[in-house]
Amino acid sequence: MGTVADNLARIRTSLPEGVTLVAVSKFHPAEALQEAYDAGQRVFGESRPQEMAAKYRELPKDIEWHMIGHLQTNKVKYLAPFVSLIHSVDSLKLAETIDKEATKAGRVIDVLLQLHIAQEETKFGWDAAELEHFLQNGELSALKHIRIRGLMGMASLTDDAAQVSGEFRTLHNVFITFRGKYLPQMDVLSMGMSGDYPLAIAEGATMVRIGSSIFGARQY
Ligand SMILES: *Cc1c(COP(=O)(O)O)cnc(C)c1O
Repeated sequence: MGTVADNLARIRTSLPEGVTLVAVSKFHPAEALQEAYDAGQRVFGESRPQEMAAKYRELPKDIEWHMIGHLQTNKVKYLAPFVSLIHSVDSLKLAETIDKEATKAGRVIDVLLQLHIAQEETKFGWDAAELEHFLQNGELSALKHIRIRGLMGMASLTDDAAQVSGEFRTLHNVFITFRGKYLPQMDVLSMGMSGDYPLAIAEGATMVRIGSSIFGARQY
């Protein structure tokens, strides 16, 4: 594995224009993020609110912080003042809490709605039908301090490329449908990680979340 700068350069050349790279830095120390920053990276993804807030305080202020992990409602307050994009909105209750904390912070917070597309039971996210219910009845669009920018999903952890591509294609189709019917402003489709991002790009991803291919294995 090369340096963080080498890894970033290699990944960037493989991304088509218009695809945003989120460098997933969870569990890595601030020095690793600084190395990526020095190589030009400005968008970082974290999965734990307090860890993200600590890194926010320590690192340069022009970084865009993305929350990509499952978010508990009682933790939203730690990131509401500064977060750029929350990828993992998976319930009406969480959306309402973000809206409330954004109001307190005097902001409108950009969010993605996370859909469950994998076979595994454990992955978080809405089913498309369940989400459509809240889009139809207007409960999500009533929240004026969140801006729904798009959808996020995680494919199954499998070597079966056809399975993974099929799941990404499903998410892309839901994106097109919901954008047409309810959310014309949507412009972000966040899908693809170190192991599967080329497949995600082939199926229409506009944002990829890449951790271990940039920073190496995480020490939990
Ligand atoms: C950790 C994580 C990633 C990055 O995974 P890698 O396999 O290290 O690239 C992407 N998305 C989410 C939601 C994650 O939790």
